[in-house]
Amino acid sequence: MRRWMFFWFKLPRKDSDPDESFGRIAPGRMLAMIDRGAYWQCGCVIPKGGAEELRQKGIDAFRESIARLTPFLADRVDTLKDWTNVSLLTVQVNRLKKWSRPGLLCIGDAAHAMSPVGGVGVNLAIQDAVAAANLLGAKLRGNSLSDADVAVVQRRREFPTRVTQAIQLFIQNRVVRSVLAAEAPLALRLLNAMPLLRRLPARLMGLGVRPEHIET
Ligand SMILES: Cc1cc2nc3c(=O)[nH]c(=O)nc-3n(C[C@H](O)[C@H](O)[C@H](O)COP(=O)(O)OP(=O)(O)OC[C@H]3O[C@@H](n4cnc5c(N)ncnc54)[C@H](O)[C@@H]3O)c2cc1C
Repeated sequence: MRRWMFFWFKLPRKDSDPDESFGRIAPGRMLAMIDRGAYWQCGCVIPKGGAEELRQKGIDAFRESIARLTPFLADRVDTLKDWTNVSLLTVQVNRLKKWSRPGLLCIGDAAHAMSPVGGVGVNLAIQDAVAAANLLGAKLRGNSLSDADVAVVQRRREFPTRVTQAIQLFIQNRVVRSVLAAEAPLALRLLNAMPLLRRLPARLMGLGVRPEHIET
């Protein structure tokens, strides 16, 4: 199991803002922004043990750092009145050893908790559900489902889960750590230099390691 921490907060969204979720990276700082329509859901990555230090510097310093990183937010960072508007979130990446037992099958985050990195946790949960429907639907309808049948879902979905989590952890541990340490990570420099290389992580994260299609 791996843990990762960040500050999680909302800022109002305006019509003139960019219309896609995105992230901002600068040496020592990293901010992910998810477009939720009326507001931006923001996640600011915190170096290990850094939350208390940031809090001690005060909410003004935090607001300024957000505005420096993303200048178009400068006119609304004051909606963060104090630290009660900023939650400290601990994200875990983990997996069950066994996804099923008699009468129970765990899929999605119940079987494998995903990090927000790449925004793929929902994809994986839906792909698990599609795979489960494809593999078990007919037997369920025919009342002939066995525990061994249920275990097949884990065999199909564990590999894509492992690979996706490994990519998330790589990004988390190498790229994010380097950014927070104000270094230019090798992986980012390579992706910057070779546009073709960028397609691979985009494809793996966007379509998934093992895409699923409804067959039933
Ligand atoms: C901070 C954060 C941001 C994330 N951002 C993204 C993102 O932008 N895009 C993305 O794809 N993934 C994201 N993820 C990962 C994503 O949230 C999960 O991988 C995904 O939600 C898993 O879906 P799920 O249906 O398996 O579980 P969940 O979405 O957790 O759904 C489980 C549901 O079961 C309900 N429940 C729990 N216990 C009970 C009970 N006893 N009785 C009835 N209901 C119950 C819960 O309330 C919940 O609604 C993020 C994760 C984190 C931690």
